Amino acid sequence: MAYNKNNIFAKILSGDAPAIKIAETEEVLAFMDIMPAAPGHCLVIPKFPAEDIFSLPENWTSKLICETQRIAVAVKKALDCAGIVILQLNGEAAGQTVFHIHFHIIPRSANDAPPTLHGRKMVEANELQPIADKIITQLNGD
Ligand code: 5GP
Repeated sequence: MAYNKNNIFAKILSGDAPAIKIAETEEVLAFMDIMPAAPGHCLVIPKFPAEDIFSLPENWTSKLICETQRIAVAVKKALDCAGIVILQLNGEAAGQTVFHIHFHIIPRSANDAPPTLHGRKMVEANELQPIADKIITQLNGD
């Protein structure tokens, strides 16, 4: 499948759609998932137009994974959660719904049921922002 530059993450990257951002480098953007599978669920994407792992150049993969690790560390501290699921889906058959490659970072508590692939309820920005702020505080080392 060819990359469709009208996908929602491309629009977030171009500034044509809003997002609650938690970190941004020259190559990578991290922001809160609008339908979180758990509080603190965030997404990490490259600023490179690739729909999945198969079309991402290797040098971008390393940047994306390193930033995913950095954000996961901050999320774990910010949410004080027992565990973190890092999830990355490729293709409709795998459950991918947005065709710009991304890593999910999903906090888990000790007694949580096994994680579902997606949340089902849209969460308002005023609920997401305080969680994003906690993660940003950790990223800044405050
Ligand atoms: P996928 O199924 O492709 O692995 O995951 C796509 C993720 O993007 C889902 O968890 C979904 O909640 C999230 N998502 C879809 N549309 C938007 C949006 O407009 N903004 C944000 N922040 N997340 C979105």
